[in-house]
Amino acid sequence: MRKDKHKQSVFYTVDFEDFTYDLCRYLGTSNIPAPRTKSLLKSFYNITNLLDMNNINNNKITFFCTGVAADRYPEIIKLIAEHGHEIGCHGNTHNNINSMSPENIYTSLKVAKEKLSELTKTEVQGFRAPNFSLDKYDFERLDAVSKVFNYDSSLHFSDKKEFQVWAKECPIDLIEFPVPQQSFLFSKFRVKPGGSYLKLFPSIVVRHSMIKSINKGLTPIIYLHPYDIFYDYNLLVKWNELKGIKLRSYWYMRQTQWMGLFNWSQKQKLQKVFSEFGSIGRLGDNLVQNPHEN
Ligand SMILES: [Zn+2]
Repeated sequence: MRKDKHKQSVFYTVDFEDFTYDLCRYLGTSNIPAPRTKSLLKSFYNITNLLDMNNINNNKITFFCTGVAADRYPEIIKLIAEHGHEIGCHGNTHNNINSMSPENIYTSLKVAKEKLSELTKTEVQGFRAPNFSLDKYDFERLDAVSKVFNYDSSLHFSDKKEFQVWAKECPIDLIEFPVPQQSFLFSKFRVKPGGSYLKLFPSIVVRHSMIKSINKGLTPIIYLHPYDIFYDYNLLVKWNELKGIKLRSYWYMRQTQWMGLFNWSQKQKLQKVFSEFGSIGRLGDNLVQNPHEN
């Protein structure tokens, strides 16, 4: 039997989004990019194979999916769920939550939850804000989220004490899985274990931030994107799909930087993380009592 008893365990999560669609939407174009079904499917297998290859126990993890992904890739969402992973919600579109009114948040999250729950025949319980765009003291918006979901994993804390102070002040009935972030080299710059941070920094920096979080009483949550460990040009918006966009060349280059830079080292870095840290499993299976009651 596979065991990673000796390892400190963390949560592995994926923000499963459609980068090409989201970028076109962000840039305000009416061009709808063609679905990237094959590439997204490949990236799903890349992530899960990496978990398997590293003998990670509890290798069923949480995928936060957008409602747009449910519309455009229903078969992939179903497949992820059929593999035993948890489907959480990552917004209906990938719009920042802090730029939406609480009413809009409630309505759009309800739509996204219904789509994802219907596809997977399981009630979706959890939420992560696109770009972590939710302020921990924005109780109005947190309240809107709590009306749709049982738990959230969008807020940053650097130690357990800070989390407990917040939990006492927070009047909202919502279980929070905080995504820890730690300052780096005594600066105000904060490092989270995931996404661009994993790409831009040597693995020793990311590891350091994880160990620091553990020592400060918080469980690290790793977050990945479909394009983080699978780079293919098909996951970029094509030149013709950017037709009519202001600063077309700039955006074309910019997305290449986001998605391609240091991508070659990502798999190796993740393997280092996987070899050192075990997996707790799906967030939704770990809903203990509401921390606000502590
Ligand atoms: Zn996202």
